[in-house]
Amino acid sequence: SLTARAAAKKLENADELIDSVETFIFDCDGVIWKGDKLIEGVPETLDMLRSKGKRLVFVTNNSTKSRKQYGKKFETLGLSVNEEEIFASSFAAAAYLQSIDFPKDKKVYVIGEDGILKELELAGFQYLGGPTDGDKKIELKPGFLMEHDHNVGAVVVGFDRYFNYYKIQYGTLCIRENPGCLFIATNRDAVTHLTDAQEWAGGGSMVGAIRGSTQKEPLVVGKPSTFMMDYLSNKFGISKSQICMVGDRLDTDILFGQNGGCKTLLVLSGVTSLETLQSPDNSIQPDFYTSKIADFLSLKAA
Ligand code: PLP
Ligand code: CA
Repeated sequence: SLTARAAAKKLENADELIDSVETFIFDCDGVIWKGDKLIEGVPETLDMLRSKGKRLVFVTNNSTKSRKQYGKKFETLGLSVNEEEIFASSFAAAAYLQSIDFPKDKKVYVIGEDGILKELELAGFQYLGGPTDGDKKIELKPGFLMEHDHNVGAVVVGFDRYFNYYKIQYGTLCIRENPGCLFIATNRDAVTHLTDAQEWAGGGSMVGAIRGSTQKEPLVVGKPSTFMMDYLSNKFGISKSQICMVGDRLDTDILFGQNGGCKTLLVLSGVTSLETLQSPDNSIQPDFYTSKIADFLSLKAA
């Protein structure tokens, strides 16, 4: 909407928020964990919400793992979360291709890590590329021409720590030369927090390279696009007004919730500070903010 939203309110009565929705969608990094460390009070908070009959869903823009691999991560952290409750942007790419009946006799070229490959395989799609692709140096002899598979009908780009020039050229050839070839991005996060020592170039940097060479805009399946929200609300039959989206990032999580018509709660346990939230440069205002989800256990009406 064009009208500015009211400034976010500090969460004071958690029970009121909890009672007002049937589903909580939690972003993962910065809300549930930070890297490999569980955030304080998370198990107790999730237990409390489950005991109240709330549906819990976990959404992450990090495409490096499949939902099965995330299932293991939750388990390692001592959280009992079902794979079916986890929606990673790797899964979203495969779910998107299924939703458009992407032909099983066409192929997907993947610029990204293992999570995307695993999800495509589970969904029954043929793929090529992936982390190990093109690790050989390209010999640019006179007349050299890179061949590409004309049966590639989609290029999926996600976060890729093995990104290289071969992949840029291969993906670009598919998108520019194969008629109707799709350009799909798992996410466009500018930076990520691979370590807490600094910000690292995020999935948006790999997507940006392919935008640069193709001059095409990707179809984004991760947050803040509405694809996952529509998918989730269809799958579980939930109305979006009955959802509260909880996240630590304004331009992905909170926008995702707002684009989907959900209630939104920003937690300050991740990348966003109170100063950033309240800065005049920030136009994204969640309904509420609080320091961490464990505040649900202590914030009661006065
Ligand atoms: N992409 C990558 C590569 C990441 O490492 C992270 C966070 O660790 C993210 C995206 C953001 O993940 P989330 O949506 O769970 O905050
Ligand atoms: Ca996050």
